[in-house]
Amino acid sequence: MPLRAKVASSVSRTAAALSRAAGRGDGSVIGGWIGLKIDPDLLAHLSAGRAIALVSGTNGKTTTTRLTAAAVGVLGTVATNSFGANMPTGHTSALAKAGSTPYAVLEVDEHYLAQVMEATEPHVVALLNLSRDQLDRAKEVAMMAQLWRAALVRHPELHVVANADDPMVVWAATPPASHDHRITPPTVVWFSAGQRWHDDSWVCPECGSSIQRSGEQWWCSGCPLRRPQPHWVVEDDGVVDPTGAWHKVVLQLPGRVNLGNAATALAVAAEFGVRPVDAVSRLSGVTSVAGRYAQVDRDGRNIRLLLAKNPASWLEAFDMADHAPTLLSINARDPDGLDTSWLFDVDFGPLRGRQVLITGDRAYDLAVRLDVNDVPFQHVRSFDEAVRSVPAGRLEVIANYTAFQDIRAELDRVN
Ligand SMILES: [Zn+2]
Repeated sequence: MPLRAKVASSVSRTAAALSRAAGRGDGSVIGGWIGLKIDPDLLAHLSAGRAIALVSGTNGKTTTTRLTAAAVGVLGTVATNSFGANMPTGHTSALAKAGSTPYAVLEVDEHYLAQVMEATEPHVVALLNLSRDQLDRAKEVAMMAQLWRAALVRHPELHVVANADDPMVVWAATPPASHDHRITPPTVVWFSAGQRWHDDSWVCPECGSSIQRSGEQWWCSGCPLRRPQPHWVVEDDGVVDPTGAWHKVVLQLPGRVNLGNAATALAVAAEFGVRPVDAVSRLSGVTSVAGRYAQVDRDGRNIRLLLAKNPASWLEAFDMADHAPTLLSINARDPDGLDTSWLFDVDFGPLRGRQVLITGDRAYDLAVRLDVNDVPFQHVRSFDEAVRSVPAGRLEVIANYTAFQDIRAELDRVN
């Protein structure tokens, strides 16, 4: 690395360490910020010589990044932004902290994908899904897909691993003028991770006609855009690879959505030459990811934490949660997005018949929504009150971002 980059990298590590020592979080944002101030090209310098995978999408990127890093770990040490700091400051800090590693797997905020691709020159980019998120500031889904598409067109050498079940992702991953899927561009490997949430992909991003669905298939009624044949699919409790071989996947993470994340991780690792048969056992070593899916025992209750940030991830959380007492907690602080009207995009009907408790800064928004949805609930003022209000056994907690962090703090920053 050039001297300036070496100095920037060293100062970045020091700043991050100071921030951690001062108890101000993990320091990855401030460390990266200072490093990039000293050398604006620091991320590019730190990326040089590493084989890099980027993982982006609205939901599942933190977990998929963790699973992918575990799978690529078959080959050697892997740098990764495991604290979920997924903007260039976080990437810079993660690479500076890791020192020299042959591989890196980085979670990337979908808005920053183009910029991070330019800086890191990745070997593989994984595109998971696109759905509505943070109504007051995130881009419209179709605009996001257009940005991805424009970025990918500039990198024809890239290996793209993309979700065949999300029409917006398929359109973004398919170069203009070749979205006739009888011809799959050789550089796109498709996986099927399922898509429970369809409400952001009823309209074709290419021609504006309606998207039709039947079973797992989807197609545009007005142009050739349709679901490509996936190379990697989830089947029963395992994953089928492109050769047709089935691999049993044992995860400590719940839900079919995480089997889809595992399929994605295996597909990305395969682009580095990792055989699924070698990687699959490493996936079961991933227990929880920054508190997501963590289980804590307290006063005879087994508390499980599920993070749900937007309508698509709420649907997945309802699917993952056991039929057990469930605490919902909603805040609308800056990292959550300030607009809670998305609550009306979610059908809370699956919670009927469970004991439902609500809390959080915006518990009353949740109360109105549940009342409209005919789901009985009880308001509690604190997490402790929630724990005392349910019988011994499982308590599922589903919370959005800062509400989740508050509860995680009450449980002593469970990982
Ligand atoms: Zn169309």
